[in-house]
Amino acid sequence: MVLNCKHVWDHISEYLDGTLDPEMLDQVKKHLEHCEICSAVLDSTRNILILTADDRTFSLPVGFSERLHDRLEQALRNPPD
Ligand SMILES: [Zn+2]
Repeated sequence: MVLNCKHVWDHISEYLDGTLDPEMLDQVKKHLEHCEICSAVLDSTRNILILTADDRTFSLPVGFSERLHDRLEQALRNPPD
């Protein structure tokens, strides 16, 4: 099975939590090696998680992941070039 970007986004929080199956983890890592979009998503998601870890009272805004996915879909439709 070959992962596409949407699969990676669906699993990105598990990837960062370290709860992904070893097999899926391998696929996600391989995808990230050659996909700039997903690498950027991973970086920004990780930054958000670091911020939230620093402040336990902070919670993600409602709809955050939906907005993230919308932005990603736009990025895929109109690749920056
Ligand atoms: Zn990707």
